[in-house]
Amino acid sequence: MTMIATNIATVRHRVQLASQNSGRKDDSVLILAVSKTKPQSAIREAARCGLTHFGENYVQEFVEKVDALSSLQLCWHFIGPLQSNKTRPVAERADWVHTVDRLKIATRLNDQRPNELPPLNVCIQVNIDSETTKAGVDVADIEALAELIISMKQLTLRGLMAIPSVKASQDQTLASFTQLRDQLARLRQRFPSEAHHLDTLSMGMSADLEVAISAGSSMVRIGTDIFGARNYPEVTP
Ligand SMILES: *Cc1c(COP(=O)(O)O)cnc(C)c1O
Repeated sequence: MTMIATNIATVRHRVQLASQNSGRKDDSVLILAVSKTKPQSAIREAARCGLTHFGENYVQEFVEKVDALSSLQLCWHFIGPLQSNKTRPVAERADWVHTVDRLKIATRLNDQRPNELPPLNVCIQVNIDSETTKAGVDVADIEALAELIISMKQLTLRGLMAIPSVKASQDQTLASFTQLRDQLARLRQRFPSEAHHLDTLSMGMSADLEVAISAGSSMVRIGTDIFGARNYPEVTP
């Protein structure tokens, strides 16, 4: 087996165990392979192992990979910070965007989503630990942004996404993930006619997927533990 194949088997096993330990069905957690900074050959290899959902962080890299790999018919998630002048290529290509954190981004994605494509699935990114440096809406502002997104024809609001503070202990991380889950439950109550779409908690990465699954994650975003350490510095767009 290749390194990527071995890694994917390990991650699948961890997801399965974590799901069982929380009394959840293991098909209730989707593995999103985060391929940022990794070559197209690595994505092809992961796709051969049966993964179909891939996430990218940088617009230019996202565009290049989606266009080059279109014959694989993968499901593409944009999970990086999005500047308003770079929304169009994402609106034209993504199946999902996890990082909607202000009205301007939502409006542009909605306006730029081609009519012949299905509505773009979006998650609201929440600044769950109220870090001054981090993207995401404050917990208090989730509902207002959700209401606006729900009114947009070319977007489907699927749920919430968060990246807890890297400085948090495991207990603090669990508390943050649990808060995100509670916020999604509130949204489902507040917007009952949308509740069937509001099914996604995008939370958990390589280091904390077990904690996230125990708190109800439905999508774990795994980079390092599938593709190995990223070997060149991440650029901030
Ligand atoms: C890079 C990244 C990941 C993957 O992180 P790993 O720790 O390498 O698994 C997940 N989510 C987001 C938003 C990322 O930017």
